[in-house]
Amino acid sequence: MTQQSLIPTICPYCGVGCGLYLAVEDGRAVGVEYMPEHPVNEGALCPKGNAVLEILDHPERLRHPMRRVDGGWRHISWLEALDLVSQKLNEVRRTHGPDALGFLASAKCTNEENYLFQKLARLLGTNNVDHCARLCHAPTVVGLARAFGSGAMTNPIPDLANADCIFIIGSNLAENHAPVARWVLKAKEKGAKVIVADPRLTPTAWLADTFLQIRPGSDVALLNGMMHVIIEEGLIDRVFIAQRTGGYDELTKVVRDYTPDYVAHITGIPPALVVEAARAYGKASSAAIVYCMGITQHTAGSDNVAACADLALICGQVGRPGAGLWPLRGQNNVQGACDMGALAEFYPGYRRVDDPQAAEAFYQAWVSNPGDSTSNLSSEPGLTVVEMMNAAAAGEIKAMYIMGEDPVNSDPNAGHVRQALAALDFLVVQDIFLTDTAQLADVVLPAAAWAEKEGTFTSTGRRVQWIGRAVAPPGEACDDLWIIGQVAQRLGLDLSYSGAAAVLSEINRLVPSYGGITPQRIAESAAVGGLFWPCPRTDHPGTPILHTEAFSTSNGHARLVPVRYTPPAEETSVGFPLVLTTGRVVVHHNAGSMTRRSPSLMERAPELFVEINPTDAAQLGIAEGETVTITTARGETRAKARLTDKVRAGATFMPFHFPGTNQLTIDALDAEAKIPEFKVAAVRLRPGGSTGSPQQSVEGPAEEVSKEE
Ligand code: SF4
Repeated sequence: MTQQSLIPTICPYCGVGCGLYLAVEDGRAVGVEYMPEHPVNEGALCPKGNAVLEILDHPERLRHPMRRVDGGWRHISWLEALDLVSQKLNEVRRTHGPDALGFLASAKCTNEENYLFQKLARLLGTNNVDHCARLCHAPTVVGLARAFGSGAMTNPIPDLANADCIFIIGSNLAENHAPVARWVLKAKEKGAKVIVADPRLTPTAWLADTFLQIRPGSDVALLNGMMHVIIEEGLIDRVFIAQRTGGYDELTKVVRDYTPDYVAHITGIPPALVVEAARAYGKASSAAIVYCMGITQHTAGSDNVAACADLALICGQVGRPGAGLWPLRGQNNVQGACDMGALAEFYPGYRRVDDPQAAEAFYQAWVSNPGDSTSNLSSEPGLTVVEMMNAAAAGEIKAMYIMGEDPVNSDPNAGHVRQALAALDFLVVQDIFLTDTAQLADVVLPAAAWAEKEGTFTSTGRRVQWIGRAVAPPGEACDDLWIIGQVAQRLGLDLSYSGAAAVLSEINRLVPSYGGITPQRIAESAAVGGLFWPCPRTDHPGTPILHTEAFSTSNGHARLVPVRYTPPAEETSVGFPLVLTTGRVVVHHNAGSMTRRSPSLMERAPELFVEINPTDAAQLGIAEGETVTITTARGETRAKARLTDKVRAGATFMPFHFPGTNQLTIDALDAEAKIPEFKVAAVRLRPGGSTGSPQQSVEGPAEEVSKEE
């Protein structure tokens, strides 16, 4: 009789980190079983989590290394692929210097894989290593670090149930982080007030007692306005401000100008609602701020996050149950990839690459032969995601190694990204599917998916969880750890480890907040949903709530950092009179490289659409369901029109899961966090356009592969 086993695992999609079981029979995953004992999702899964098997077993999974030959693909051996990749990277490095190389790590890969990948880049002498956190929550790292000294979610997700006011700004969590909405509802059932600020009337907005329909890009004005009211009405926590913060006087000077009337002028929110929201937050005994990319994906992204921190601090709403900031991160391991140093300016553990002490520590740990000139660490911060694309287009970066990312669809100004990647001398892409980016590569390396390997993921709530190997990868696909080690070996670097546990042991030694998250402890903690960092020692229980006694700054006090409203980089004009903002729908994930291959999810959301207010649609002569052309200064695309009051007049919305949306978005950057302003672009719409919608060009031309074999 066939034996079925249930292997515990973590959903590979978003940062909530839901637990589930894979039912495995004869070496094949045959079903998904719920995990009611998991502390975050308690067995619940969103549609993406329910559909994970459709990806694992997908016929388009990459099964062999491939090389581009005469415009087509030829299957090659691992030996040939690895030799070719290392030879090309070495050639570029020797001819043009290490900074002619660029590396994109992956928020879908494990901590151990990201750690090793950035170590490879840095040992080759460049800090040009980054990943998609730059496109979603880099302002969280910058903005919260400015205020608190460290940038991550302060409390566990289930702790939201202990708040008696929840302020959700720039997050459609009911769709995008669905299990989080359950904890908001639990708080609401106990009487909590919910405030939602969003440009759209989203499903999350239906949870709100107070809904603030804000103009895209005006969040700082709203947050300053709420602080203005809270200060005017004496709702601040004077003891907390005096004992635990600095900079209050400077903050008051700035927020003084943000009267409710002035805020209404900038944000479009009636003054009475600004006051109502401020009072609800200011009078709460425990108040939570939940935010997401609606406030981070702006040129003012870091300021938006800093203003959220200021609001929490003046009300003393940090460091207690139900009180703190909950940034909701996108990918399953985007928090961990940041922790592991897959960021251009940070070594693992957020130690700056231009800090001589940090550089010395990693040099001592990593460079076994100090005389070896192949292993010099650079003290210059590297280029970030968008900067790397600009450098590639300018001919300064000559070769790129991309692991598990699809910048052709995920980066802003996608037409420019295509040109940049096409201009490279050499591109290697390591992934589970032949994505649009992989289709531009010279060599494609087939990687194992999450359930086919082992290692740790760190959820948006700083929960580090272990995943074991449930099934074998398809064909000749291999896990990323092995691939990175093999490439490194051919470049003269010893990055061979016996497995993920061995890499984790090195991380334990070099990243203090992971010091006690050892392979043994992480395995033992599976039943309680992993361990929270910081967990500096093996006898440390982990830290579910941050900043309870002191902040992570040099003097232990939080910094109140006043910020002023600045308009988005691109404002509307006669030629581009409407504002486009972008976001997600419940059944799709990020650039869609996985969910667009999932039949059950595609059935529910098969194509790109644009939401338009009926007033604007009438003026433009656009009818419900017709194809429209959307144009910005960077490009144009087509989508189905959805006429809805969910967006206010003058605004439009498109999901970013389909090729096309990021043809339109702008690559203007937040000066510090270097995140692009995905959330605001000036557009014009016209009815009509070819029906050959770009989203139909699903990546992975299997026919092309077989033709060229
Ligand atoms: Fe949970 Fe996110 Fe996976 Fe949905 S996508 S099941 S919310 S981890």
